[in-house]
Amino acid sequence: MRSVTPEEAPSPDPLADALGARLPSPLQPVEDRRFAASGVRLLLKRDDLIHPEMPGNKWRKLAPNLAAAREAGADTLVTFGGAHSNHLRATAAAGRLLGLATVGVVRGDELGARPLNPSLARCAADGMRLWFADRATYRRKSEPEVLAALVARALSATGGAGGTAYVVPEGGSNAAAVRGCAALGAELLGAADVVAVACGTGGTLAGLAAGLGAGQRALGVAVLRGGFLTGEVRALQRAAFGDERGDWRVDDRFHGGGFARTGPGLAEFAHTFERDHGVPVERVYVAKLLHGLAAMAAAGEFPPGTRVAAVITGPPEPA
Ligand SMILES: *Cc1c(COP(=O)(O)O)cnc(C)c1O
Repeated sequence: MRSVTPEEAPSPDPLADALGARLPSPLQPVEDRRFAASGVRLLLKRDDLIHPEMPGNKWRKLAPNLAAAREAGADTLVTFGGAHSNHLRATAAAGRLLGLATVGVVRGDELGARPLNPSLARCAADGMRLWFADRATYRRKSEPEVLAALVARALSATGGAGGTAYVVPEGGSNAAAVRGCAALGAELLGAADVVAVACGTGGTLAGLAAGLGAGQRALGVAVLRGGFLTGEVRALQRAAFGDERGDWRVDDRFHGGGFARTGPGLAEFAHTFERDHGVPVERVYVAKLLHGLAAMAAAGEFPPGTRVAAVITGPPEPA
């Protein structure tokens, strides 16, 4: 009898098998003069290649929630996002692929009166029922009663849930999602000294940091203003693991004025990086991450020889 090599062994993740996910995602060294000039070795962790419709950290965060929804016997996924939300699109695709109904609660009731933008049109084409919430209510959705009322209204306005609804929070960041992102860290064990990721809710950073090994550290680059992410990441780790994990910090210098805002040089940097390396650069998160890392490298913030892995958390928004 011959033994099975690791490559031949069945994947322990039936969902990844069923949907053809590319895991572990590729790790790709790139020669970039902006980093090489400071002796920094840049690697790209290509999570954008995990799945064409559920890419990047959206796969890592959704997969454990989809498993939990199925286990709970749910037939409808309900979740939340802005008009350009990558998470809404990934959830809509997951619903179509797995035969679950999906309801998207979208921030901004004024959007309901306008034609759908390409991102929301994609959600609708995948069968997601969209419901537009006014911004004041949407902002309060972490309050349990507000959340329950929002979900109930969205469900009834869009046709109800046949059986059980499973609610995934905005951005997909809950305890299950954070545990799912620990696999990202585990895939990088020994392969980098610093692993850097762009942060929206901080869920990906929380899990990544927990999965890394001794001597490795995680660096989050905030794409929003406000400096609240350190507290969020701590809270997410406590919810997911019962305590705080890993060596990590959040850098608040590179948001460029706020979410989806662009500071000087960002567009030019992203364009040049794409041209030099043939890697599509998502503009809201990934461009700020790479731009921030290049600035840190140029300022000598990484000792020469440091291996910095940048997580490419998703592809550009479809046009
Ligand atoms: C959602 C998203 C993020 C933010 O992830 P968080 O876990 O919310 O911090 C980063 N990059 C891309 C491409 C995303 O779509």
